[in-house]
Amino acid sequence: MSKVVFSNITKRFPGVAGATAVDRLNLTIEEGTLVTLLGPSGCGKTTTLRMLAGFETPSDGTITIGGRDVTNVPVNARNVGMVFQSYALFPHMSVRENVEYGVRLLNLPKAEMKDRVGSILDTMALTQYADRSPARLSGGQQQRVALARAVVTQPKVLLFDEPLSNLDAQLRERMRDELRAIQLRLGITSLYVTHDQSEAMAITDRVVVMRGGVIEQDDSPLNVYSRPGTGFVAEFMGKANILNGKVEAVDDTTVRVRIASTVAFMLARGDRAFKVGEAVRCVVRPEHIRVDPAGTMEAKVRRVVFQGAYVEYLTDLEGQECVFLDTDYYKSGVAEVGQTLKLSIDSRPVWILPENEAATIGKAA
Ligand code: ATP
Repeated sequence: MSKVVFSNITKRFPGVAGATAVDRLNLTIEEGTLVTLLGPSGCGKTTTLRMLAGFETPSDGTITIGGRDVTNVPVNARNVGMVFQSYALFPHMSVRENVEYGVRLLNLPKAEMKDRVGSILDTMALTQYADRSPARLSGGQQQRVALARAVVTQPKVLLFDEPLSNLDAQLRERMRDELRAIQLRLGITSLYVTHDQSEAMAITDRVVVMRGGVIEQDDSPLNVYSRPGTGFVAEFMGKANILNGKVEAVDDTTVRVRIASTVAFMLARGDRAFKVGEAVRCVVRPEHIRVDPAGTMEAKVRRVVFQGAYVEYLTDLEGQECVFLDTDYYKSGVAEVGQTLKLSIDSRPVWILPENEAATIGKAA
């Protein structure tokens, strides 16, 4: 059993005025799952991870691993493995020795230690590099050695602190997929810290978006992106238009929202309550707006950014800023600044933010 539960965890750093790094955090990581802590710099994600590792002691609250209270248990008695951004490999040791180092403290019989190390080197496709020094490995290989060293002790929980930040973009994606595949294969309960939202969505069972020491949303990758609870989450998870609209009609299943003189759409209401005339904010992802000669929406182009796979347009929609992506630009050409484009919005993925979230909009940066 290795379910992790943070109950009402608070961390204050003495001597730092007004600094509550983590504020009454409640978080459960189900056995065998990988949960990502995501958020801007200073939101408390590293502090949360360090409390689970045992490097920091909470000011308040309890942390359990597999039902055992570890709040005040020292680092080396928690059975937690860690993978850091900087790999932290020993340069004077070979790959095999680096991995052995992880298990040496367990005082296993020699044969068992050899077996474990051999098998984990195999799992990580490192057997052929076993006798090399880390300096003679690529960044991705070094990261795999660090992972091997962390999991060879068969920890109950595995912690990742921005493990891919030192890798270039292409390798980062490959390693991300590799880390996830290995985590799933080993079935280790894991907590992963990153500030990269696409990495979080790709690697994880659940994304926990933090802001100012508190959890803003704890949800599936799909939901944090397409059903954000707040404007902050909507903007942090990727480019978003948050357009002001007005409710025109409501029935049992749908709501009709107008966002511009010529643009209104029907949305599924879900269990949300709406009143006719109510002001709402609609989250519209740029990929759900397209150039459409038959569209009723007209927007004036303010900026054009060519990105290869698509052209990104920043436009003005009756005074509201509206960004969208055109992947079909090869058909009708790239529009110019000042031009008016006819557009349409796919209304199905449009998400309406709760009214009381207006205050957080636009503050994601
Ligand atoms: P980053 O992405 O920049 O690493 P983070 O989300 O991981 O940020 P934390 O490192 O957890 O954020 O820091 C949360 C808050 O606690 C910040 O305001 C930080 O300045 C403060 N803090 C962190 N460690 C300490 C410390 N040892 N002493 C005092 N304040 C600290």
